[in-house]
Amino acid sequence: MRPFAYSRPTTIVDAVAIQHRDAAAKYLGAGTNLIDLMKMGVERPEHLVDITHLPMSKIEERNGGFRVGALVRNSELAIHPGIRRQYPVLSHAILSGASPQIRNMATTGGNLLQRTRCFYFYDPTYAACNKRTPGSGCAALEGSNRIHAILGASEKCIATYPGDMAVALTALDAQVILRSPAGERTLPLSRFYRLPGDTPHIETELLPGELITAVDLPAASAGRRSYYLKVRDRNSYAFALVSVAAVLDIDSGNRIREARVALGGVAHMPWSVPEANDSLRNQTADDSAFHRAAEILIRGAQPRRDNSFKVELARRAVVRALRAATNRPV
Ligand code: SF4
Repeated sequence: MRPFAYSRPTTIVDAVAIQHRDAAAKYLGAGTNLIDLMKMGVERPEHLVDITHLPMSKIEERNGGFRVGALVRNSELAIHPGIRRQYPVLSHAILSGASPQIRNMATTGGNLLQRTRCFYFYDPTYAACNKRTPGSGCAALEGSNRIHAILGASEKCIATYPGDMAVALTALDAQVILRSPAGERTLPLSRFYRLPGDTPHIETELLPGELITAVDLPAASAGRRSYYLKVRDRNSYAFALVSVAAVLDIDSGNRIREARVALGGVAHMPWSVPEANDSLRNQTADDSAFHRAAEILIRGAQPRRDNSFKVELARRAVVRALRAATNRPV
């Protein structure tokens, strides 16, 4: 590992000021992803700003929903009684990710910012990776691309966003609270991530030096049902080949009042299509509505040599998740 400077501010104002002054600095939370990347020489920050002493570790009820501090540990969030009661899809998504040890360390903010698991990104002996070294090419285009994207990719990068939590948060219409020296702003999670386009190394709408301080979960409607389905090569400690977070509000006559569906493992970001959600609204919760929504979600899929199976897998996973959500007790 290369030498780096280290700061440990105790206020959010100081943390964002340090980062604003030093473009070579990076925030350090639990470090469950960043430290690995530093050891492998993929990340080379000259300055780490340790944010673990900032006041961002609370889960607070707010306006019928919850504000989750950026430093809340994944395991704490997953087992919080209010979260389990109102947002079981979030709890299930978190518990399906990583290992208990990692979940005990990993933070809410850091989880949102975890990097892709593309093999070539993690291995600097492969020179071609536009995400690691802009302009160098993409080894995955002609390489092993079984785990890569089928939606929203570009010829510059076909990596996927690897997380589970953000997929559930997208389906729950969560908002991210961001702080910079200019003040605070709020962004829907559905607009937080970027597709790769020509700049796959820029993964989010975070401005330089901006810090995630919290995530807001809106109040859950009374008739909400949800399900998180994760399909992966083994049943533990594996990233999703395809995952689906389905959130439905269904009335007593089995009519869908509201629906939100997001997919993981298929794109550079949690994949949601407003038209798919619209297609479910005011429909009877049955297979024909679910198949229609699935078709819209995977419309325009462009599989690569090794991952064409993901198209059918995503289609079936969406239908299965929507069925499971419908049949869950409220
Ligand atoms: Fe790098 Fe993206 Fe290509 Fe993977 S898919 S090698 S992360 S540019």
